[in-house]
Amino acid sequence: MTPENYLLKKLMLPDLKLLKVEKISNKTLHYHCVKKTKWEVCRKCPTKSYTVHDHRTVSIRDTKLQYKNVRLIIKKRRFRCPKCKSVFTESVNGIRPRHRTSEKYRNKLLFDYKNFHTTKSVASIARCSDTLVSKVINERLELELRKSRNTPWGKTVLIDEHAFKKDPITGRKSFVTSFVDNNRKCLRELAPSRFHDEMFRSIQHIPGRENVTHAVIDMTGTYKNFIESYFPNARIVVDKFHVIRLIHPAIRKYRKEVTGDRRSNPIRNLLLTNRKRLQPYQKRAVTRFCSENPNVNEVYRFKERITNFYNIKGFNQASRVLTKITDDMARSKLKEIRTLRKTLMKWRKEILRYFKTGLTNARVEGFNRKCKLIQRTSYGLRSFENYRLRALYSCS
Ligand SMILES: [Zn+2]
Repeated sequence: MTPENYLLKKLMLPDLKLLKVEKISNKTLHYHCVKKTKWEVCRKCPTKSYTVHDHRTVSIRDTKLQYKNVRLIIKKRRFRCPKCKSVFTESVNGIRPRHRTSEKYRNKLLFDYKNFHTTKSVASIARCSDTLVSKVINERLELELRKSRNTPWGKTVLIDEHAFKKDPITGRKSFVTSFVDNNRKCLRELAPSRFHDEMFRSIQHIPGRENVTHAVIDMTGTYKNFIESYFPNARIVVDKFHVIRLIHPAIRKYRKEVTGDRRSNPIRNLLLTNRKRLQPYQKRAVTRFCSENPNVNEVYRFKERITNFYNIKGFNQASRVLTKITDDMARSKLKEIRTLRKTLMKWRKEILRYFKTGLTNARVEGFNRKCKLIQRTSYGLRSFENYRLRALYSCS
C-alpha cells in the first residue's frame, strides 16, 4: 500500500487519487485529489462517456484527521455525452452532488449531537455554522427514523399530552399528543394537537392497529372517543396518577379560604403529600389544621381514601371500596366533591381496569419530561417537525 493510498483509505474515499498535500497553516491541510476512473456514465441516458469537456475545482470539508482540519480540493472533470450531447460533472462516492461537506462529516455531526446535545457546541467543535448543524441533524434523523417506520403497534399504547409552545396571537399554549408503545418501550409518534383528525393523520402510517389490546389515557373525552374509533380491540385503562390528582384543586381552594394565597405556608405541600410519607410532627400539624377547618378536613379525608384505594390488591375488593367511596361522596355538602363523584362514576369501568392489568402512564410521563428537556436545551423550538424528529429520536 502506497502512502497516498493509505491516506485515502483513512479518509474512506476509495474513488479518489491523492496528488499532493498542501499545508495551509499548522491546523489546516488541503488534500488535492482527482478521481481515478477514465469514464463516467451520463445522467440522462445510460451511455459511457470518455470525452472531457472541462474542469471544475471544488472544496469539500471533511472530518478532522489527527487533530488537523481537512479540506479536499478535488479537480472534477466534466464529461460530454456522445449520444445526447449533455454536459455533466463526475460524482464521487461518499460526497453527495451539490454538497460542500462529505457524508462522513455529516455523520460525525449527528454523532457529536448525541454527545453534546446542543447545536452550538456541536458547531464549535466541528467549526461550522449552527444552521448547517441543525439542517444536517434533521436530515440524518429523518433517515434514522425511516428504519422503524413500518414496525407494527405493540399490545399496549400509552397516550398523554404536554405543552409545546405559546401561540403568538392568542397567547394560549398549544398541546402535543404523544403515543408510546409500552411493549417496545419507545415513543412512536407525536401529533401536533389534541384533535381527532390531526391525531388520525399523524399515526395512520403505523400498521397493526388491531394488535392493540389496552390503551392507557388520562380522563379526557377526546382521547376516549379517538381510541374507540381508531383501535378496534383496545380497552381503555385510566391512569392512576390522574385519578389521585383530581381532588387536588378542591383541597387547594378550601385551604386558600383559610390561609390565603401565600406560597410560603408549609401546610400547602403537607396537605397534598401522601400521609404515609409524612414525619410524625408533620402528621400532627396536618391533623391540627384539619380539626380547625371542617371543609378542609372533609376533602382531605376523601383524598386519603382515594390514595389508599390504589393500595388494594384484587379487582372485587377494589370495586367494593370504590362503590363505598362514591356513596359517601353523594352525602357530601361540598359542590366539588359531588362533581368529583360524577367523574368517578362516569369512568368507573376504566378506573377499575387498573386492578386487572396494573398498567399506568409512567413511561409516557417520563418521555414527556425528556421532551421538555429538549425544548429547554434548545431554548424553545419553532418548528413542530424539527421538534418531532428530535423527540422521537431521543425517546427510542
Ligand atoms: Zn446522454
